[in-house]
Amino acid sequence: MLRRKFLKNSSMGTAGVFSAPLMASCQENSEENSETEIVKPIVVCTWNFHNATAKAWEVLNAGGNALDAIEQGVMIEEADVENQTVGMGGRPDRDGNVTLDACIMDKDSNCGAVLCMQNIAHPISVARKVMEDTPHVMLAGKGAERFAYEKGFKNENLLTEQSKQEWLEWKKTSKYETIINIENHDTIGMLAIDKNGDIAGGCTTSGMGYKYAGRVGDSPIIGAGLFVDNEIGGATATGVGEEVVRTVGSFLIVELMRQGKTPQEACEVGVKRIMEKNKGRKDFQIGFLAINKKGETGGYCVHPGFTYRVYSEEGHVNNTSDSYIKV
Ligand code: ASP
Repeated sequence: MLRRKFLKNSSMGTAGVFSAPLMASCQENSEENSETEIVKPIVVCTWNFHNATAKAWEVLNAGGNALDAIEQGVMIEEADVENQTVGMGGRPDRDGNVTLDACIMDKDSNCGAVLCMQNIAHPISVARKVMEDTPHVMLAGKGAERFAYEKGFKNENLLTEQSKQEWLEWKKTSKYETIINIENHDTIGMLAIDKNGDIAGGCTTSGMGYKYAGRVGDSPIIGAGLFVDNEIGGATATGVGEEVVRTVGSFLIVELMRQGKTPQEACEVGVKRIMEKNKGRKDFQIGFLAINKKGETGGYCVHPGFTYRVYSEEGHVNNTSDSYIKV
């Protein structure tokens, strides 16, 4: 067990506020170990969604908790009609319906998810309501939509003119293919650590463009598209969800970190596991992103092109991930 004395991040003022469990562990260990570890808030997300990390950082830097930072951060992308892979403006399924998937997980391993939900612009917030206001983890389809209306969410048309026109064009050939690193796979998965050292995560997507009606990928599946264990760290995924589900990718990465791997090493093992199962197949992209309790981060992908954003007091950067296949 790590023995730590948690102090409030120096950038946030002087009066530290400690949660009860952390204080207890400080007192228990203070005589044995005087090591001081400062908790530095940090947020990371898949791809170059700088507005989302900026929003999440604003919440964290004001002393907000990781769960609020996650929700408010990814909502930026859900609302962005230019982003055709998340929320409003997302590419529709093959029938022309925009169906959204999202999940959220907090420091106490509570989680909530919505799957294949239509007409609601912020699935991450509905997922949070599922987590907080129901005894369930997942709601799907019409049930999720009805629940959202009961909670006061508005019915909105999510299909923008641009996404509609592109779908009509696609219908002329109706060819479904997974295209590496084109905007077709840009789910936002986000992980954050707040001033108390608590971790939360969220993942939200419109899934693969022109998917079969009813198709659900990895993104709203706890353990696949997202997993958080407040003792260890968190992981999230983007890319061809079917491959991530087959190896329960995010759970795998957190468990590898539990066994002592760094976030970088764990993401690399996660991608290699997928590649081994595929026996030479290379026509798909996966990107994994992970963070551990110390705030160390790592990312790894199948093909070059995956990037991830990191925002901490050290700055706001877009990191290019190393890849399993080099060119
Ligand atoms: N992982 C998402 C899915 O399979 C797609 C993506 O990352 O863009 O639905």
